[in-house]
Amino acid sequence: MASEEKFSVEKPEADWRRELAPEAYQVLRSHGTEPAGTSPLNAEKRAGVFHCAGCGKELFDSGSKYESGSGWPSFYQPKPGAVGTSDDQSHFMRRTEVHCADCGGHLGHVFPDGPQPTGLRYCMNGVALKFEPKKP
Ligand SMILES: [Zn+2]
Repeated sequence: MASEEKFSVEKPEADWRRELAPEAYQVLRSHGTEPAGTSPLNAEKRAGVFHCAGCGKELFDSGSKYESGSGWPSFYQPKPGAVGTSDDQSHFMRRTEVHCADCGGHLGHVFPDGPQPTGLRYCMNGVALKFEPKKP
């Protein structure tokens, strides 16, 4: 991670490694990317809230989810203050990295080709999210 950002949820790497599923650890703590089209959350259409798989913070409301056709769960807007961003120049591309504001876990990237009203596409890794359906 490029920044000196401080997060309210900080743990030794060994703890993250123990607590997270290997796929989630790979994304959240090692900036990995899940293979496109593999997340069950791509097809999740119920009302509810998407939480950070690392610390449980509420990140996205189901109302901001849309079908981008990218193969990753996509949203046009995070909950207020839920995520932070950093400049990512890896893989010979210039992208904006998105992470959980509380634990710093890597979630995905944001691109300027999303729908209105924001025009943004938050391209998220499903393994970095946990969906909680709204209680009836
Ligand atoms: Zn988190």
